[in-house]
Formats: sequence, C-alpha cells, structure tokens
Amino acid sequence: MISGRRDVVIVGAGHNALVAACYLARAGFDVEVIERDSVVGGAVSTVERWPGVRVDRGSSIHVMVRHTDLMADLELAKFGLEYDDVDPWAVWPHRDGAIRLATNLDDSCHSIASVCGEAEAEAYRSFIETWTPRTRWFLGAGRRPPTVWNLARSAVGLARHERGHLAALPQSFLEPAESAIARTFADHRMRALVGWWAAQSGPPPHAVGTAPIAGSMAMFHLRPPGRPRGGSGKLSEALAARFASYGGKLRTDDGATRITSDSGSGCAVVTSAGDRIPSRMVLAGCHVVETARLLGDEKARRSVRVGDGLGMVLRLLCDDLPRYPVAADGTHTAMQFLVDSPAQIRAAYGDFLRGEPAADPPLIVMTPSATDRSLAPQGRHVVTVWAQWHPRQLRQGDWDQRRDQVADTVVGGVERWAPGFTGSIIDRFVQTPLDLERELGLLSGNVMHVESELDALFALRPLPGWSGYRTPHPGIYICGASTHPGGGVWGASGRAAADVVIHDLRQKRR
Ligand SMILES: Cc1cc2nc3c(=O)[nH]c(=O)nc-3n(C[C@H](O)[C@H](O)[C@H](O)COP(=O)(O)OP(=O)(O)OC[C@H]3O[C@@H](n4cnc5c(N)ncnc54)[C@H](O)[C@@H]3O)c2cc1C
Repeated sequence: MISGRRDVVIVGAGHNALVAACYLARAGFDVEVIERDSVVGGAVSTVERWPGVRVDRGSSIHVMVRHTDLMADLELAKFGLEYDDVDPWAVWPHRDGAIRLATNLDDSCHSIASVCGEAEAEAYRSFIETWTPRTRWFLGAGRRPPTVWNLARSAVGLARHERGHLAALPQSFLEPAESAIARTFADHRMRALVGWWAAQSGPPPHAVGTAPIAGSMAMFHLRPPGRPRGGSGKLSEALAARFASYGGKLRTDDGATRITSDSGSGCAVVTSAGDRIPSRMVLAGCHVVETARLLGDEKARRSVRVGDGLGMVLRLLCDDLPRYPVAADGTHTAMQFLVDSPAQIRAAYGDFLRGEPAADPPLIVMTPSATDRSLAPQGRHVVTVWAQWHPRQLRQGDWDQRRDQVADTVVGGVERWAPGFTGSIIDRFVQTPLDLERELGLLSGNVMHVESELDALFALRPLPGWSGYRTPHPGIYICGASTHPGGGVWGASGRAAADVVIHDLRQKRR
C-alpha cells in the first residue's frame, strides 16, 4: 500500500525521536512516527514484567533531561509526567561508614568528612566547584548541532570562569579520569566512588578524555536527578501523548525495512507491513547502524564504532529491599554504589578486554519501588542491579549458555554488601548485552549506541560527514544516542535535530 506523502517520517520511537516528533508537529508539519516495537520509548520504557509489577526496560534515572526545559516547554505534566527527585542521588553503603551524596554540596561534604575526613570533603568540594562551569558548558553545548561556531558560542561563559588558567583547560578535558581523581583524592574510597561514576558512559576511567565524565558529577549538585512516577517510560508515554495532541501519527509494531532517498523525487520509508510512506524528509531515531542498513549504505554501516558491550542488568522481584549493615538516610532513594576500590574497576575492565564478564564487577543498585509504590504490590519490590563491564562477544561460550551463571555472580556481589539479599529474591529478569541487543536494538549491548570516546564525540559523532544530524543521503536526517551529544536520557539530540529539519524544510519551500 502507498500512503499519502508526509512532510517527515520518523523511524523509531525512542525518546529523542519522540522529542523531535513533538517539535516538528508543533511547527505545523505533517509527521508520522513508525516504531517496530509494541512499546514506545526504546531504552526509556517501562513494562509489566510480573503481574502488577512495572519494570524499566532500559534507563531508570533521568539526569540530563532535567537540565533542559523540555518538561515545561512541552507541558509534559499535563500528559502524565511527574518526577520524584532522587536526592540523595548516591549512597556508598560501606560497613566502614556510609557516604551519602545529596544535591546539597554542604550535606555531601559533611557526610564525606564523617567517613574519610575533612581533607577529602574539601577536595570533593573543590572538585565539584571546578567542574560545575565546565559541566554547564557541556550541557549547553549539547543543545545545539556541534559546529565550531556553536561550540565556541557556548564556551564564552566558560572562558570567563577559567580566566587565568585557560592554557591548562585542554589538558583538564583530555586527561584520564583516573589521574584527575588520584590527584584530587587521597582516600581510596573517594577514588572508587568518583571513579565508578566516571565509568558510566563506557570508557574506562584510565582512558584519555574521561576526566569530564568524572567531573559531570557536578550535575547532581545543580539539580537532583529524577525518576518518573510509574517508571522511566512515563517520559516517552507523555511525549507520545503530546505528539498526538499536535495531530501527529504514531504506529507501533511496524518497523522500517528500507529507506529510500532521492534528491529529485523525495524520500520514502518501506515498512514491515508492506507500506511505502513517501515523505519530503526522513528522520531516523534508531541506531545509526540500523539507519545505514535501511539505506543500504554498507560503508557507513561498517565505519561506525559500536564497541563490544558495556554492562548488564538484573531486574529482581524481591520481597524486601537490600539491607546494608550501615544505613544512611535515603539509601533506598539513592543509587547505591557498590564499589570497593579503583583496582576493582580496573580488574573488571581487564576481564572485559579478555572477552570475559567481570568476575567481581562494581555495581549500582536501584530500588525504585521504595519511593514509588505504584511500581509493585504491597510486600514486593523491584530491585535493579547494573554491573560493568560485560562484553557482547564472549571468549568462551555464549550469553544464552552463561546468562544465569553470570547473573549469580552479580547477585553474589550484592549479597556481599547486603547480607541476606539473595533470600529476598522471588524472581529475576536478566538483561545481558545480547538481551539488550535483542530486545531494544542496542547493538552489542552498547546503551550509548556508539562508543563515547574522543573519536566519536561532537562533530565526529557518529561519523565524519554524518554529524550535525544531517547525512550524505539527501533528505535523510538522524537523531538519538548515535548523534551528538550522545546517550543517556536527555532529548537534546531530538530537539536539535528537529531544528535542523525544520530549517531545511522551510528552505526547501522557498
Ligand atoms: C539497561 C539500561 C540502563 C540505562 N540507564 C540509564 C540511566 O539510568 N540514565 C540515563 O540517562 N541513561 C540510561 N541508559 C541509556 C539511555 O536509556 C539511552 O542512551 C537512550 O534512551 C537512547 O535513546 P534514543 O532516543 O537514542 O533511542 P533508543 O532508546 O535507542 O530507541 C530507538 C528506537 O528505535 C526503534 N527502532 C529500531 N530500529 C527500527 C526500525 N527499523 N524501524 C522502526 N523502529 C526501529 C527501537 O525499537 C527503539 O524504540 C540506559 C540504557 C539501558 C539499556
């Protein structure tokens, strides 16, 4: 069947694509979103895994999106989106004494001082104060296409702050997180805590250019991260409802099987149901490797550096929360950072490089049902455990054979910190890198789509010639984690891509 011609067809209903859809539809364009899954939101979605129990499929904690004005600008509260602050945002529940990091920097420093001493607390304060303007710059730079002009424009404020030590700034940005951390903190516990955060985008903290990821902890002291009430997917559901309110059309369970591009006759998307939807432009919000495949662009498909996995997740249905011997106020609100030392982080990466799942991975435990009782019935809890690093390609066996054994290792890791935890588990749903690829289309299980290293950031993301949301294929645009500013729950690439598409659609009209 051939459908009527749209202004824009959007491939995929990930949260970035839905943001773009809202802005395009609000600007008066005729937009259709096609999603191959039955659920909207991709890695920002929540489903009923067990009767009456809502579980996130990907992300849980929303950080960057809370530094945008999307919620207010699109009036998402009217469409059911309500955030619970995650504050404190991290707790290190060690038996030596728990460190509690809250948005209030004084409270955090007070907690650090009580466990590691005043000097470490002051080091943390100074680290956060140093990285706050830099993080603001990064958040600002994420809002626009990564052109030299845009990056320079957002750097003006930063340059003012850094007056006097501008010459050292490039080195501060390019340095490995591990060396910045080692220079700042003397105590191995602080080194482990900050280092574990620095590992969250995928590159190990000893890699060049990772200091800014460690420094991005400053974000948490500007505004608490949030958890949508009812699960992460409530953001995507609100965006989809907002899009519908602007007259946009969204179909699920019908993915793109081909995208055609022609500078003369326009573009078209062919769907698995056999529809051919002609359009003036196509915006692909799926993984860029999938976009290249749909376009038949073999060279681009092979050039993207997707990496070999990052981590795995356990979604556990429990009859209790993990009980740590030393509790801190708000432990079950916060992300619980279970990490012993920088050596543990390095060893986990070493295992990964050898094609083995980390034997003793550092963990983040999240307990969303402790604060959001809409997620599980009385007497039940959802516990999410994120573990890192886990390669997609295993040296021995495959994930279907090793899933349960590796999941047991992760449970054992939590048990070490919270004795008795294993006994509280009623059932579990395991997401290895293979499962993330199968369920969410996250190739190699990379939750950031593409490696978040220096050769694939800013104007190089995802590839030279495919940056700034345009592609070499006439009429074909891209957004999502594959594009600047990268992965995570943010919506920035969706919004910036919509601006580019709107600009080009209006140019074409003339
Ligand atoms: C387990 C996990 C935990 C995470 N935790 C966090 C967290 O706590 N905080 C955070 O900020 N980030 C987190 N992330 C990362 C974050 O969720 C992702 O980087 C982000 O959601 C990617 O969004 P996106 O808009 O690029 O699209 P995606 O979520 O990748 O969605 C792409 C969509 O395209 C669809 N699609 C693919 N191919 C086709 C096709 N041919 N036709 C039609 N549709 C297609 C897919 O079905 C999918 O719906 C996590 C991710 C995972 C997986």
